[in-house]
Amino acid sequence: MIKSKRNCIILYSPRHRTLIRSIINKVTHFVPKHCLFCLEKTHTYSDLCKHCIASLTLNNHCCRRCAAPLEQSIEQDTVLCGDCLSHDCHYDRVFSPFLYSEEMAYLIKKFKYQQKIHYANILSMLFIQKISILKNFQLPQVIIPVPMHTKRLKKRGFNQALELSRIFASHYQLPLNYSSFIRHRYTDLQAEMSASRRQKNVQQAFLVKKPIHYSHVALVDDVMTTGSTVNEAAKVLKKNGIEKVDVWTIARAGMN
Ligand SMILES: [Zn+2]
Ligand SMILES: [Zn+2]
Repeated sequence: MIKSKRNCIILYSPRHRTLIRSIINKVTHFVPKHCLFCLEKTHTYSDLCKHCIASLTLNNHCCRRCAAPLEQSIEQDTVLCGDCLSHDCHYDRVFSPFLYSEEMAYLIKKFKYQQKIHYANILSMLFIQKISILKNFQLPQVIIPVPMHTKRLKKRGFNQALELSRIFASHYQLPLNYSSFIRHRYTDLQAEMSASRRQKNVQQAFLVKKPIHYSHVALVDDVMTTGSTVNEAAKVLKKNGIEKVDVWTIARAGMN
């Protein structure tokens, strides 16, 4: 995002963003990097050293549908969490390889709220690395970011879900669709809300503006907490003919 002489905000077009990202990647490839957490020199793709990547808490033991972390005593792969057993989920499966630990929250908050847009590279590559070794992981036909209302987009300057989606689409060589599915109702930020308030807050927030001619989509966001947002989004996608909606988020927070 830049400001013109008239002080109005100009958003880079997707083409410009891709070009700028590729130039930055080429230039920074030759510059020695330091781990964001421990400041050790690192040449890994992620700006985190191997030790700090290994210290991120994985969401290995989780509900096989919504990826909510489960008690260690519960056997995995055989159970759905209480929430999935008692409520209808519109999405099919959530892939969320990390827990929303303090370290992950640091990365995601910097990315989202402090304009560290290049953190999208770190976060998406962490996701790709972990997700590729999962059992039953099936690629979708198209990547769709959880849309942001234009009012919030103007305030923040970018949609974090779209930034992650661009990298996923490029890595997996999949189409990216960010214009057919929109957020047409402005909603309050959900971070401090209870689960029931989150659910009400996102009702009727989404709209399929143009037909989506795919049967299997991956809906991308940065973090999943209660799942109200992605559940409402998946409901609207399914009403519009999508058969299978997977949800990809970098991290999974516990339920409120
Ligand atoms: Zn480190
Ligand atoms: Zn569940």
